[in-house]
Amino acid sequence: MSIPFNRPYLVGKELDYIAQAHANGHLSGDGSFTKRCHALLEQMTGTRKALLTHSCTAALEMAAMLLELAPGDEVIMPSFTFVTTANAFVLRGAVPVFVDIRPDTLNIDENLIEAAITPRTRAICVVHYAGVSCDMNTIMATARRYGLFVVEDAAQGILSTYEGKPLGSFGDLAALSFHETKNVISGEGGALLINNPAMIDRAEIIREKGTNRGKFFRGQVDKYTWVDIGSSFLPSELIAAFLAAQLEQAEYLTRRRIDIWNSYHAWAKSLEEAGLARRPIVPSDCVHNAHMYYLLLDNLEARTHFIESMKAAGIGTVFHYVPLHSSPAGTRFARSFGELPITDATSERLVRLPLWVGIEEHLDQVMRSAQNILASYPTIQHSVLG
Ligand SMILES: *Cc1c(COP(=O)(O)O)cnc(C)c1O
Repeated sequence: MSIPFNRPYLVGKELDYIAQAHANGHLSGDGSFTKRCHALLEQMTGTRKALLTHSCTAALEMAAMLLELAPGDEVIMPSFTFVTTANAFVLRGAVPVFVDIRPDTLNIDENLIEAAITPRTRAICVVHYAGVSCDMNTIMATARRYGLFVVEDAAQGILSTYEGKPLGSFGDLAALSFHETKNVISGEGGALLINNPAMIDRAEIIREKGTNRGKFFRGQVDKYTWVDIGSSFLPSELIAAFLAAQLEQAEYLTRRRIDIWNSYHAWAKSLEEAGLARRPIVPSDCVHNAHMYYLLLDNLEARTHFIESMKAAGIGTVFHYVPLHSSPAGTRFARSFGELPITDATSERLVRLPLWVGIEEHLDQVMRSAQNILASYPTIQHSVLG
């Protein structure tokens, strides 16, 4: 592939910092680079407490433990998301209840949540798709009215805001990802953001294998021991060192992505006007981080043709998600609230264009190829998504 779908970018100091971590003589978790990442994340998101994890998946699993879910408890979430949004809760015996997404942002439809609530509902887990915020005013009000926890899967949402407030600062808990396909990376990596102060102590314990080791190192207890459930969720200092260099440049990385996103968006306007594709829609109260540029094509056949033709032109594009409600595990462990027509249609029509820092010199080629492929393919009128 001459223009891959993703290419991890080095901002400069990553490898120096890794060498420093080694020179510090501390390569396991929670050394000085981890502390620097925690401080940067707390400053960036306004959360009370940030804790690095080895993935966003791990942070979601910690969130599910912190909610103390009992088997059969329900968590409302979209089906149009990555597997681990649901799997983290299923591991605790809870049941994901899928509701449909909005046709504009492809985020959970906040107006469907209330009707999906049952006596077993304990939490709402929202996903800020493509780094564009869910309608957090409506969602937080619904949660408050029914006494539900809110978890934000903000894997794609670093440095995005909703009404001026950073994503990850709304729910009781939020999870970030630093996977190599995200905006700020450490290969694999993540963080749990804890906004509910009552959950902070227990989060530290769960992350440290169920021990009170954190308190021991701060001199608050005289020995450390097994006090709760938990696992090893902390990344090594090698990862934290790499991540610290990226977090220090997070705004720079985001600005570069926004320029690329804006180029795609201006270019795709004529495609949209010609009825060849629909562009992303960003509500006026959301400032996004250019995590993703996608197009919605007419149908599955049009998308398959597009991805194959782009591949033949040496350009990597991808689709996602196989809706969780129609996956083998989803049918076993979860249930849907009614039909999910927008989820089903989106999953067949959406294609992501390559968007990575450094792609700028290839953008013309991507756009020219995409335009030629779309213009030469017979179209039909759009269905549910417009
Ligand atoms: C990337 C992603 C995850 C998983 O992140 P990892 O760090 O790979 O565990 C979870 N949810 C969403 C919405 C994601 O985009």
